[in-house]
Amino acid sequence: MTEQPSESPWLAAYAMHSSASAGREHPEKTHPYRTPFQRDRDRIVHSSAYRRLAHKTQVFTGDRGDYHRTRLTHTHEVASIARTVGRVLRLNEDLIEALALMHDIGHPPFGHAGEDVLNDCASETGGFNHNMHAVRIVTLLEDRYPEFPGLNLSYEVLAGQRNRVKHDRSPGALPLLEVQVVDAADSVAYDSHDADDALELGLLGWDELLELPLWCEAVRRVQDHYTALDQLQLRRAVIHQLIEIMVSDLINTSSQRLEEAKVDSPQAVSHCSGLLVAVSEPLQAQMAALEAFLFERVYRHPTVLAERALAGEALREMYARYYGQPESLPQAWRKKLDAEGVARTVCDFLAGMTDRYALEEYRRHESLT
Ligand code: MG
Repeated sequence: MTEQPSESPWLAAYAMHSSASAGREHPEKTHPYRTPFQRDRDRIVHSSAYRRLAHKTQVFTGDRGDYHRTRLTHTHEVASIARTVGRVLRLNEDLIEALALMHDIGHPPFGHAGEDVLNDCASETGGFNHNMHAVRIVTLLEDRYPEFPGLNLSYEVLAGQRNRVKHDRSPGALPLLEVQVVDAADSVAYDSHDADDALELGLLGWDELLELPLWCEAVRRVQDHYTALDQLQLRRAVIHQLIEIMVSDLINTSSQRLEEAKVDSPQAVSHCSGLLVAVSEPLQAQMAALEAFLFERVYRHPTVLAERALAGEALREMYARYYGQPESLPQAWRKKLDAEGVARTVCDFLAGMTDRYALEEYRRHESLT
């Protein structure tokens, strides 16, 4: 069998069909039973950067127990939400899954605290951005195939991730609908799970969230259905309801926009006047209020800020140490120094570390000095 495997006839004309893909930088033969976007997804799942997401901070560090999301479980929630939306809108689920599974692959240890430190330390070489770093991982740093560096992903997967860097929303540059779905699903996932994790960890009180109309609406819907829930059952039901509200609105608003825009190809999507996959304006305002609330009360909570400061200090010290003594880098990284320079090589090395590995490495050096 040499023919390209076909995709579901369910796909809409505005979906990105893999048969219309611009291909890969290093051309490859078609696979007998997987479409190009399925192969992209599989390559991401089999990469070491993907596995390391299990031990990287989403918002809260691993020291706080095992309940809260890691970067990997966040990624799975995004993929699950995005696939649901994609299927209803008749988009390419394989492409959506590939995009979702790689969307946070470029995060360094310690989440945004780590990103800020690396961006500052590596300013001489253009700084550090996790979205850009994801592209660097899948085009250069993953070393898994004899034929090429990186994962040799399809053009559309790389373009989707690059669009996350620029966030270009001008007509002619709008991303594929599959990319728009993953962006929207990312917000739905963190808006709901960060509230859940913060409640579990005692950083937020239940009554504080009742300041938010979106939260109150979710509580009201749950209480309309159930009368005798204990506090934990109520919280879990409210989180499910919150996701339900956001996903239903996202599907309804996007379906309506797709119908009105009458787009009949991915090219037509890119020339629209704005995003077609979005929540309604009222919900957008409510989600913005929830995000501002989480920013103030959770991400800037004194204990979270203290953890960030500590983690940032460890990463900054390690950067300075390896920058001053690049010969102490592991052999595989020393080989990259000539081509990439010291700053970028040290940055790549540190960004690949899990929280756990970075802390062990930091403490090992501290005990030696
Ligand atoms: Mg994310």
